[in-house]
Amino acid sequence: MGTHSRLQSPVQYLKGVGPRRAERFEKLGVRSGRDLLYHVPRRYEDATRVNRIGSLRPGDEATVIGEVVAKGVLPTRKRLRIFRAIVRDASGRIEVAWPGQPWLDRQISKGDLLLVTGSVGFFHGLQLRPREHTVLAREGERSDGGRVFPVYAATEGLSHRQIRNIIEDNLDPLIEEVAEREVFPAEWLESMRLPRLESALETLHRPKEIADVESATRRLAWEELFFLQLLHARARHEIRSRDPGHGMRSGSNLSTSFLDALPFRLTGAQQRAWTEIQADMEDDARMYRLLQGDVGSGKTVVAAAAMLKAVENGLQSVLMAPTELLAEQHGRTLNGLFETVGQRPRLLTGSVTGRERAEVLSGMADGSLPLVIGTHALFQEGVSFARPGLMVIDEQHRFGVSQRRALRDLGGSADMLVMSATPIPRSLALTLYGDLDLSVIDEMPPGRRPIRTGVRSYADRDAALNWIRGELAAGRQAYFVYPLIEESEVVEATAVNDAVTELRHLYPEFVVESVHGRMPPARKDETMRRFAAGEIALLVATTVIEVGIDVPNATVMVIEHAERFGLSQLHQLRGRVGRGAKQSWCVAFHSAEETPPRLRAFAATNDGFRLAREDLRLRGQGDLFGAQQHGAPELRFANLERDADLLEQARKRAREIVDTDPELSSRSHRALARELVDRHADREVLFAIG
Ligand code: ADP
Ligand code: MG
Repeated sequence: MGTHSRLQSPVQYLKGVGPRRAERFEKLGVRSGRDLLYHVPRRYEDATRVNRIGSLRPGDEATVIGEVVAKGVLPTRKRLRIFRAIVRDASGRIEVAWPGQPWLDRQISKGDLLLVTGSVGFFHGLQLRPREHTVLAREGERSDGGRVFPVYAATEGLSHRQIRNIIEDNLDPLIEEVAEREVFPAEWLESMRLPRLESALETLHRPKEIADVESATRRLAWEELFFLQLLHARARHEIRSRDPGHGMRSGSNLSTSFLDALPFRLTGAQQRAWTEIQADMEDDARMYRLLQGDVGSGKTVVAAAAMLKAVENGLQSVLMAPTELLAEQHGRTLNGLFETVGQRPRLLTGSVTGRERAEVLSGMADGSLPLVIGTHALFQEGVSFARPGLMVIDEQHRFGVSQRRALRDLGGSADMLVMSATPIPRSLALTLYGDLDLSVIDEMPPGRRPIRTGVRSYADRDAALNWIRGELAAGRQAYFVYPLIEESEVVEATAVNDAVTELRHLYPEFVVESVHGRMPPARKDETMRRFAAGEIALLVATTVIEVGIDVPNATVMVIEHAERFGLSQLHQLRGRVGRGAKQSWCVAFHSAEETPPRLRAFAATNDGFRLAREDLRLRGQGDLFGAQQHGAPELRFANLERDADLLEQARKRAREIVDTDPELSSRSHRALARELVDRHADREVLFAIG
């Protein structure tokens, strides 16, 4: 360490950089020596795996690495200028030809070590037609990595080779400095079989063998995951310690009689979640928990029991929904559920006005009203809460950041239960919502008729539409959903309106209406209400109905251009039907030649968690993060599938540390605290609530 920290030095002052290159490094997010060290190769060219030039045959697809021994531009009869190079490795030589690219003559020199991928043809001898090429090294350049060549993400004016040379020139002192800063105890690293930081970084920049790269990458993944979990653990601690919980009584009356009076028994998964929630509510510390489960898995019933548990302890419970429509629906559901125990929750939304509103507000403020269901109207105007015991927040990711903060403030010392009907893999949940504890309902109540899903190409559309007429004629209702067209709401509205025209023409005997993004919210709500009331047979919509209303009589979900939807979104849409006793159907139309893998997976299972894992596999975590939450953390090194084990370790260790030393002030934690600030100082992160 000391005064000449190269790690902390602006990259400009490192060997071979200077102000101009520093500006270009900035574009790559590299500002300091430390950033440079963590600018690890994007990929590697493994010369031990490439094709030997001497063994190439016409028709081969090949990658070769060799030295340029001759080169030049030759004009042809047709005035096409072709750049050619003769490339040689230990086994032979081959001509490589780039038609129409004479400028390459200035970029590729004799003596360069060149990597070329392309197809082998025959033209006065063997010839390679490149699709891609990379100059791995100039004549006389060092390449300490042996036969594995790192390729760095580059930018305009700063080639991957320049970057490699700069890194090569600065690597030793940077790594030496890093070696003194290892923040993890040796036992931890040994138990996870991870290398120390300096050795991981050295391997990544100068791999001896490609096989070493993975464990080195996992080491960086580990720190990334650990510090994110440490941040989450600190947020959780802060929330839980700012206001202590209530430590409610166990074995109580209201919630028990409620559950006893249900016409069914809780599923195993519901029971597990309920046990976890009760334990939290009885604990002195505040509950801060995410309840995840597919649509219809029975989350609401569990949340309802929790609400009653707070009430029987003399406290108040609130359920908060992201829209008025959903709040009203919850209101109906809960009023039905609570009938057996004589409780009547009240609604507070923007459209509750006048005397009714005044009553609810005063009941909340003086504590006489135990159960309230509402929207963010609940915390918009001086609403106060006498004895907040539990806040249930439905689909929290649909609330904005400031709304979440307001929720937290309104909640005071209330326990927090966040409900989500968007199944996501555990690894993703722990990364995005690591500050919350997690309960998962991964089992459906018995006796459900699984929704039948058909994936069809547009060639089968007529037949499908005819079949749907039968369902409508039998008195059932259907949704037709179109993808959101992000570039243009106008185009989107047009697509929806065209569909309405088509369907009205096709089904003159039925009422066809639409909802889409360009409609004023009030009209949207009105149309949805009429659909729920059965006045509309066929609702054409964009994804505005994705997480929405529950209409048991709707048994058909038609998804148009299904290839444009993500897997979880498709599943969410399908969850709009299958809410009643009748058999429900989902028909997904696509315009692809062959059924895309995503749609095959969709048709194959109704299990949202399985689909979520499949989605993670097919789409990659980057996409899923964005879809889940704005400001989601970017993971550069961790791969949630490969590193799921590290993530669990990270969460466990981070929580242990924060439980014993929340401020990270003990001697052994100081280095962790410093590193945490280095990494995350710039963002107060994404606490799930507030
Ligand atoms: P979610 O909130 O997860 O969408 P709900 O709690 O609304 O699910 O439950 C969906 C439906 O299933 C409701 O009609 C509910 O009464 C019913 N239900 C919930 N749990 C069970 C169970 N264990 N057995 C049978 N039916 C159940
Ligand atoms: Mg508690």
